Amino acid sequence: MDCGEGIQRQIMSLGVGLNKETTVLITHLHGDHVTGLLGLLQTMALAQRSKPLDLVAPAPLLKWLQVTSELLNVGLTFEIRFRRARAGIVAKTSGFVISAAKAAHSVEAYSFVVEEKTRPGVFFPKKARALGVPEGKLWSRLQRGRSVTVSGRTVRPSQVTGLPRPGRRVGYSGDTRPSRRLARFFSGCDLLILDSTFRAADRDKAVERKHSTSTEAAQMAKDAGARRLVLTHFSARYRNVAPLVREARAVFPETAAAADGLSVRVDYPPG
Ligand SMILES: [Zn+2]
Ligand SMILES: [Zn+2]
Repeated sequence: MDCGEGIQRQIMSLGVGLNKETTVLITHLHGDHVTGLLGLLQTMALAQRSKPLDLVAPAPLLKWLQVTSELLNVGLTFEIRFRRARAGIVAKTSGFVISAAKAAHSVEAYSFVVEEKTRPGVFFPKKARALGVPEGKLWSRLQRGRSVTVSGRTVRPSQVTGLPRPGRRVGYSGDTRPSRRLARFFSGCDLLILDSTFRAADRDKAVERKHSTSTEAAQMAKDAGARRLVLTHFSARYRNVAPLVREARAVFPETAAAADGLSVRVDYPPG
């Protein structure tokens, strides 16, 4: 989500594969969110990427990409499947469904929710044994949601597993003012990554520049019923972001500050 300057160096240092199924989501066309895209595409081409790359972004990005890659003679080794961002479902990958909502920023901007597809229910070995299904291949077939035949009888997954379990939801606001509409869009997210450019005391600047404050981000996480919050996009005016995290925690305790290379574990929703 978004391609800040030097993203290809981060991706390489974090060991993310350059020829994996990849969907790039761009929230809006401000430099700090797109200038890294060209470097990323070039690095992928150097690594001889062959898989197509899915790119979801506001419409003008395609023009920027076409003009700059032509001027700079960027020869890509793979296809870019461009999809114009709009409210609703914008991409479906092998494991995720990605939806977008309009954000409130100074240019056309979107927020995204990445939702893992439903997972099969919990498998009950006792029930499988009671139905005479031997441990091994047949168990894994049932766990993958397929029926099996044992001595002429059909055993369906629903007989040996619980109800399908919801996948995890991760929301990313990009640059935006907070809103009830966005809080609804982010409803039930297991992790939210939100614009927290300013401190609560600098709210007038946040309103003027169409960003959020730390406490506004925390309130949105609370309204959305999210489980965890990571604040990001801090203004360079703050040398230390600890006060922003403190302010947010007073509203929403499960808050942390984003940092380069930060790794956050996203647990499955309970049940
Ligand atoms: Zn912006
Ligand atoms: Zn920005």
